[in-house]
Amino acid sequence: MVSLERPGTAEIWTWLAAVEDPEIPVISIVDLGIVRDLRWDDATCVVTVTPTYSGCPATHVISQAIVDALHGHGVDDVRIETRIAPPWTTDWMSEAGKQALRDYGIAPPLQRAQTIAVADIGRGAPTAAPEIACPRCASTAVELVSQFGSTPCKALYRCKACREPFDHFKCH
Ligand SMILES: [Zn+2]
Repeated sequence: MVSLERPGTAEIWTWLAAVEDPEIPVISIVDLGIVRDLRWDDATCVVTVTPTYSGCPATHVISQAIVDALHGHGVDDVRIETRIAPPWTTDWMSEAGKQALRDYGIAPPLQRAQTIAVADIGRGAPTAAPEIACPRCASTAVELVSQFGSTPCKALYRCKACREPFDHFKCH
């Protein structure tokens, strides 16, 4: 059944683009690339979400934020579907999203292509790792402090050049 009052999915995408990621409020869930699909199932708006990290405690918060945003625009019947395959990749992040992370002081994730290139170079030399740059001074002289930063989705690094600690959004 088609209702004339039903907003188009293009309009709904713009509403979701205003929903902030609960962990990194400078980036929207659309820029983060976790909203994978949007469709109408009769009168129900179905939003498909792929979490960035399978154990990410923010997943429930994100689902609630989507439901709240759509309710705010008069869409009462919302269903969130979680899709875990294919897994989220940093390639799904927009350039605007990566820039926002940098401005926020978080080293943005490396492109998958870059990671693969490094892996190719590193064949036979497993110690080769993608270079992570300090978001403050861009130095690549960084050291891993902890696999878990301020949230489980981030790792904590320290820059050896400016001595500042920073979070790195983990690659998948
Ligand atoms: Zn630095």
